[in-house]
Amino acid sequence: MKDGIHPKYGNTTVRCACGETFETGSVRENLVVDICSKCHPFYTGKQKLVDTGGRVDKFKKRMEQK
Ligand SMILES: [Zn+2]
Repeated sequence: MKDGIHPKYGNTTVRCACGETFETGSVRENLVVDICSKCHPFYTGKQKLVDTGGRVDKFKKRMEQK
């Protein structure tokens, strides 16, 4: 591959909403994504359970206040 024929293509640090960062090849810099391979339900199978648990806790707290 010759130098100079591609516009600034190189490693870019991608930051995910979950705090995970990883490097990938891109022409853009400092990408921000909402979901990555570390927190995607397809890969972890946990994200949905975590969200559901949070809702249950909120519901319990609300019931205790009554
Ligand atoms: Zn993530």
